[in-house]
Amino acid sequence: MKSLAHRSLFFKCENFQRMGAFKFRGAYNAISHFDDRQRAAGVITYSSGNHAQAIALSAKLTGIRATIVMPEDAPAAKVAATRGYGGEVITYDRYTQNREEIGRKLAEERGMTLIPPYDHPYVIAGQGTAAKELIEETGPLDYLFVCLGGGGLIGGCALAAAALAPDCKVIGVEPEAGNDAQQSLARGEIVHIKVPRTIADGAASTHVGAYNFPIIQRHVDRIVTVSDAQLIETLRFFAQRMKMVVEPTGCLAAAVLQKVVPVEGKRVGVIVSGGNVDLAKLAQFVA
Ligand SMILES: *Cc1c(COP(=O)(O)O)cnc(C)c1O
Repeated sequence: MKSLAHRSLFFKCENFQRMGAFKFRGAYNAISHFDDRQRAAGVITYSSGNHAQAIALSAKLTGIRATIVMPEDAPAAKVAATRGYGGEVITYDRYTQNREEIGRKLAEERGMTLIPPYDHPYVIAGQGTAAKELIEETGPLDYLFVCLGGGGLIGGCALAAAALAPDCKVIGVEPEAGNDAQQSLARGEIVHIKVPRTIADGAASTHVGAYNFPIIQRHVDRIVTVSDAQLIETLRFFAQRMKMVVEPTGCLAAAVLQKVVPVEGKRVGVIVSGGNVDLAKLAQFVA
């Protein structure tokens, strides 16, 4: 994309990942560490979508049971895919009910191991392999743009970048409506916000994780935000110019290039985090 952007952009296209997003990396890594007792009882999680599919698919591939607590308004494609991978789906109202409580209670009742979507060392480590693979392929980068919700992806990617390309500045990108991580960095403590209303449903988290925040503080240069309108513009660009289906959340890191433009000639990595979007919604966005 050099001629358009006047700098070398390297995209890590996790929209082409198994189950359509980077979340397979962390989920599979976490389940791979289960002992026999954990394998026998199965895995449980809560997720607005992609982590649900990642756990369901990883459980299927490793032959264990999976129960997934999902918001009742999660994108239909994500719910259907989770069920399609053999996961048992239990729904809740994300504006009034606490998914973490529901997950913990069910985990206790059923003896299942809870693997949360981001606040977990093996999940963070697994997500980081996205940046590891990118940097191994591209060589050193000057900037790496990574979207964030709870901070699993950026936590892992920032650790990978620190190890493989220590001079690379890692920049986090959040939806404007839910800039809790940006506020957290400014305040020096984890800030909780109300469930943000944004089309970036994969980044509509209310706070970053306890494992994730210190990594972000240490290894992330800064956090910037983009609006839903900029996400739609980027989604259209991906569809029309790059011939790729990218979900709104997956557009966050690239969308910020409309606002924050690194100096000409720099080598810039961009993590495109996922591509799971209902076709009807996609049609609305690109219309
Ligand atoms: C989960 C998800 C994110 C946010 O990842 P975190 O690890 O919660 O920061 C971003 N994009 C997509 C497509 C996702 O599924």
